[in-house]
Amino acid sequence: MPARSHHWRTESSQQPGPPPEGIPPQRTPAPLRFALKALVLPFMLLDLVVQKIIQTLSPPPYKITGGCKQRGHCCHYILMQWPPILDKWPWFRAFWLWWHTDIHGFYSRGFDAEGPNGEVVKVMSCRYLQKDGRCGQYPLRPAICRQWPRIEFTSRPHLLKGCGYQILPRNPPPSDDNTISK
Ligand code: SF4
Repeated sequence: MPARSHHWRTESSQQPGPPPEGIPPQRTPAPLRFALKALVLPFMLLDLVVQKIIQTLSPPPYKITGGCKQRGHCCHYILMQWPPILDKWPWFRAFWLWWHTDIHGFYSRGFDAEGPNGEVVKVMSCRYLQKDGRCGQYPLRPAICRQWPRIEFTSRPHLLKGCGYQILPRNPPPSDDNTISK
């Protein structure tokens, strides 16, 4: 599990359709959504820069090459940890759901999954994924999308089928092909 964001994604490459009842509408007016995302953007970028600096100073065991082929697999099944505190504090749960669904545009797939340590994770998709695989809010996409595919310090990273990225060991042993690709 990622140490910072508590977000990760499934191996599935299935392309699910929209929920039978339709994608729930966003209730926050579009200009307000835009303003909130624009407001947090500098802080998010600063956080990502700090993470980049840390990774430069202390490189993780794997590195990424290649590029996004806009297949959209990673936007269909977004697994988000459900922290236990959300069950204790209803106001925080309401805020968490509002932020991720109304502002970021994710919506529930209608079922939960279990994380590697037995924790509850919410399975979500994103309403901003376009039919051609492009992101409909690319400049304002959330951090979870900017950090995918994730490189961890302590666990072997993985990619989704058809992903245009490759993950290579930073210091491969001679003549050993440890490339991770799909
Ligand atoms: S915001 Fe963009 S990159 Fe992130 S899940 Fe939605 S469509 Fe994909």
